[in-house]
This record gives sequence, structure tokens and C-alpha cells, in this order.
Amino acid sequence: MIRCATMLVFALFFAPLGLLLASDLGDVAGDSRVAHADDVGEIAVAKGTTYIATTNEQNPAPLTLGKRKIAWVAHPTDPAQKIAILTIPYREKPQIFQASKTMRVRVLEGDYRKETINVAPSHAKPNKQNQQRIERERKEAQQIYSRYTPKRYWDSPFALPLNSAITSPYGSARIFNGEIASYHSGTDFRANIGTPIAASNDGVVVIAKDRFLAGGSVVIDHGQGIFSMYYHCSELKVSVGDAVKKGDLIALSGNSGRVSGPHLHFGFLVNGAQVDPLDFIDKINLLF
Ligand SMILES: [Zn+2]
Repeated sequence: MIRCATMLVFALFFAPLGLLLASDLGDVAGDSRVAHADDVGEIAVAKGTTYIATTNEQNPAPLTLGKRKIAWVAHPTDPAQKIAILTIPYREKPQIFQASKTMRVRVLEGDYRKETINVAPSHAKPNKQNQQRIERERKEAQQIYSRYTPKRYWDSPFALPLNSAITSPYGSARIFNGEIASYHSGTDFRANIGTPIAASNDGVVVIAKDRFLAGGSVVIDHGQGIFSMYYHCSELKVSVGDAVKKGDLIALSGNSGRVSGPHLHFGFLVNGAQVDPLDFIDKINLLF
């Protein structure tokens, strides 16, 4: 629960500050609100989390986080504003990015726990053929995630894909059978095999297949750099290219891929970073 408390602190202290600063990007000197821009022009975002900046500017320059450019896009409910969805990858080093002339982004450590997981040896230490398959599937996914759909398909808040208890949060450092170290890139929900899984929001299906690690997988492109993912399913109800609406049945949960038992793995990749899905949904839904 320390983590929740930490997030709350960020939300209380940094979010209002950042929103104010973001809306003042490029503001004229002499405006009292930005008189101390050098002192306060900084927002803090923890690894694996999302920060949504807003501006009233007509043509703001994209924000930059190192090599990543974050586009300003239309606000979903306020035509006078634009938003930029800043996301910090889990593996980002703590540092400060100069995101724009007036905005710095300080990357903070996340408060994530460690987990040891035991899975079938064939999945913990894949043979050569399976290693090649993993690599092929990784590259394929990477290519899909590198595409940017300028259109936004959604115009309402994001929803959870099922109503169930969380069994493993985003961000835990993971040790598989004492050997493979990685981190948990999504949130796991308790789900018996065959539990209906619903689309988190409107979008277009870009992955619908069985994969070695993720098992039965559905990935939805929601447009403007937002993808949601649903893994370890037993049955897929959609195909690549299908347009889906929020709440549509897209799959049944299962225990396929690298798992220690049946569950749904739910994830979000936003502007190139796998972020905490619950944190992302909390932040994006504040726009409504
Ligand atoms: Zn998972």
C-alpha cells in the first residue's frame, strides 16, 4: 500500500503544478504564474506511470523525452485544449528530461515489489526453436507498436476488461524459476478459464493469435499511440482488423502461454512505453 500512498503524493503535489505549467507552455515573460518557471517548471513522474499535460496553445511543439517525441493531440472533451500523454518506461533511468523550453520531467523510481514465480521448465527456459519463436513474436509486436494511428477511436472513459480481484500488480520485478529476471508489464486479474473479457475502449484489433509467452493474445489499437492488451486467453472472439466497441466480448480468459495458473494479464502500451494500466486508466479518465 506504500505504492498507492506514493502515487497519491504525486497526484496531489505534481499533477496540479504540472497541469498549470503545461498550460503555460510558451507563455510570455511577465506573467506572474510563470515568473519562477526555472524553479517550478518541473514535473515528477515515476517509472511505469503516466502524466497527462494540457495546453491551450494552438500549435505547441511536441514534447520530447530523450529520443521519444510525445505529440499533442485533441482533448477528448474540451475543444479549447490539447493533451500530451507522457509515459515513462519501467526501465528508464532516473534523470531529468527537458521536455520543452519550459517543462522538465524528472523520472523517479517506482515503488515496486519483487516476485518469484515458478512456471513449467519449458517456458522458463525455452529451447532454441521456442527462443526463435519468442524473438519473431517480439519483433512482430514491436513493429505493430511502432505504428502510430493519428485517429482517436475512443470518446469515453476506459474500462477494466473484467470485474475481478488483482492477483499481481504492474511493475513487480520477476524471477522465473530463479533464473529469468524481468518485470511485470501489466496487471493480472483473477479469472477462471472461460471468463468473458471485454474491450477496455473502442479501437481496432491489431493482434489476435496464440503466442509463446503471452498465449492467446488480443491487442487493440485505440489510436494516438494507445494500445491495450489481453493475454493468456483460452479463446479469441475477434480477428485482426475488427473494429471493437468498449465492452465488446473479445476473448475468454485462460492459462495459455507462460503462466503459473489461469488469469487475465491486462496491459497498456502508450506512446512507446508499457505503463501501469490502472494508473493509466485513472489518469486518462480524469479528462472526462
Ligand atoms: Zn501478467
